[in-house]
Amino acid sequence: MTELGPAIDERALEEAVRFTSELIRIDTTNRGGGDGREREAAEYAAERLAEAGAEPVILEKAPGRSNVVARIAGTDPSADALLVHGHLDVVPAEADDWSVDPFSGAIRDGIVWGRGALDMKGMDAMVLAAVRSWARAGVRPRRDVVVAFTADEEASAEYGAGFLAERHGALFEGCTEGISESGGFTFHGGDGLRIYPVGAGERGTAWLRLTARGTAGHGSKAHPHNAVVILAEAIARIGRHRWPVRPVPTVRAALTELAAVYGVDVDLDAEEFDADDLLAKLGPAAQLVESTLRNSANPTVFEAGYKVNVVPGHAAAQVDGRMLPGWEDEFVATMDELTGPEVDWEFQHRTVPLGAPVDSPTFAAMRSAIERFDPEARVVPYCMSGGTDAKQFSRLGIVGYGFSPLRLPAEFGYGKLAHGVDERVPADGLRFGVRVLDDFLRAA
Ligand SMILES: [Zn+2]
Repeated sequence: MTELGPAIDERALEEAVRFTSELIRIDTTNRGGGDGREREAAEYAAERLAEAGAEPVILEKAPGRSNVVARIAGTDPSADALLVHGHLDVVPAEADDWSVDPFSGAIRDGIVWGRGALDMKGMDAMVLAAVRSWARAGVRPRRDVVVAFTADEEASAEYGAGFLAERHGALFEGCTEGISESGGFTFHGGDGLRIYPVGAGERGTAWLRLTARGTAGHGSKAHPHNAVVILAEAIARIGRHRWPVRPVPTVRAALTELAAVYGVDVDLDAEEFDADDLLAKLGPAAQLVESTLRNSANPTVFEAGYKVNVVPGHAAAQVDGRMLPGWEDEFVATMDELTGPEVDWEFQHRTVPLGAPVDSPTFAAMRSAIERFDPEARVVPYCMSGGTDAKQFSRLGIVGYGFSPLRLPAEFGYGKLAHGVDERVPADGLRFGVRVLDDFLRAA
């Protein structure tokens, strides 16, 4: 085991909590379509880094859409660099629905309240607190650690990680792996089981636009070529399609480890293997894998017609598709087949699926950092059903993991609160998180 030096100090624990609250108070709502402003939060982060002797740069593709990047030199110059990234923007919050002002950052009874508490200003604060503690203690991580705080993750990443990957790749030189949101938090698996899912893959986004062309005309006449009917049939085929189970390596590892956690004997390669049967035996943890066993395509928008006695000449629809790594060709072929010859379809928005190795030293270091601070933790890899900035950084060859460590009590539903009403995080969860993060970053 690597010698870690002194443990993180009390001040870092206090800063992780206070910085979360202060970052929440800076409203960085991202409404999409270019409507957002991260500059004040970026300046806040840059100042906290500069106070610790780092030399952050602020980068903008458009005024106000600010990103921050800094490199902390490691002790082993031959080691690959590690990227730690967190987004600064948040999704909108409707204040009327909340019990507190969503941008108050109020700390009450040991809980920090506000939009971004979980997604993901808490992690941003922990990163700042850890880096500052190294400066105070005079310690450095083994690998170079490149810290990036990004704009625009909650929309297209065009002003954030997409812009950094495209235009400022040199800042990430030597980075082979990255860590960020959506993993490393406590998932309560029933019977006191504390599972910590660590992200090791993401499905790719496939937002589709479908168009059917038919013969327009009077609603009272015979219309064998009605675009509404043609498209509705295609949409029904897509919505009812049972996609085959395709256990990609990350999901296989998740199923294997979860089966072990729940004491279920399973052979994924057996001919009689039945994924649904296994899910039924995994209790609440089935949620961690059920959306990533297969590709998916959900019809979400249908647009057709304008008057009851007019058959429209065309009809359009949108479908939210998600593709597993390695199964994109199958997705395309299946959509060709399901839409049929009379419906055209195209990608409106397409992003790459990701898969990260779960047998890497980095994964092992994340696992042992969590286990050090929660000896009963069951760390398992999982594949995210959606996507993060890791997709953008993958263009630089950076393998992404979802690791924002956080200890949450049983009544805390991470999934419900991120992007939800009354988003909040326990201060103790952040204190746990910054300890784990510091331990991992220095040892990795
Ligand atoms: Zn997020």
